[in-house]
Amino acid sequence: MTEQNLSQTIVSIENYVRFLKDNGIEYIQKEQEAAPVQEIREVEEQMDKAVQLEKLREEILSSNRCPLHKNRTNMVLGEGSPDARLVFVGEAPGQKEDELGRPFVGRSGNLLTKIIEAMGLKREEVYICNVIKCRPPENRDPKPEEIEQCEPFLIKQLDIIQPEVICTLGRFAAQTLLKTKTPISKLRGNFELYNNIKLMPTFHPAAVLRNPNLKRDVWDDMQQIMGVLGLPVKK
Ligand code: URA
Repeated sequence: MTEQNLSQTIVSIENYVRFLKDNGIEYIQKEQEAAPVQEIREVEEQMDKAVQLEKLREEILSSNRCPLHKNRTNMVLGEGSPDARLVFVGEAPGQKEDELGRPFVGRSGNLLTKIIEAMGLKREEVYICNVIKCRPPENRDPKPEEIEQCEPFLIKQLDIIQPEVICTLGRFAAQTLLKTKTPISKLRGNFELYNNIKLMPTFHPAAVLRNPNLKRDVWDDMQQIMGVLGLPVKK
């Protein structure tokens, strides 16, 4: 394991321990009979998903199928709860994300964090990732062949997490997962099914920053997701 992989693994474990603490799990008891079986099973499932995601990280790091790996500072797998009920899928890492190896940490990320909190959730409770795991030069749009090469990793990620809802941000994520060329303005606002998981396409936070009129639509889409997740909907 390289030093970079090791530090990414440590960050993931730290995030995971923080997630467990936020969910009221202070310690894991050694004596099986002392903790309720269901609780142990849930923690085991979460740990299993975290381990599978770390294996996926190793797999992506050792893959050189796509030329984008050559110029990256960091590969950006994703972050959040491995057991998230809600997964956000963006387009590709930008400069800040490439520098830090974390998704949505720039201006779009700040807005996404605000949206998540307005939904009554914490960033650590959801999972955030992208279609493309390495930054395209100058933040250009991902090329079809780059999407084709990276998409299997996204599919595996979603398969491990098995969320109740996927929210795609912007056209690339929606069009990739739904295998369509329909514009995002037509797709947004209506649940679709991706492998039996409810998928809500909405606008990318960067588009909302460019055009604040889109805020209303994005919030409507989030309220629909909140309804499915049983979160109190605020009008
Ligand atoms: N835009 C994206 O689509 N993903 C990121 O991680 C950051 C900005």
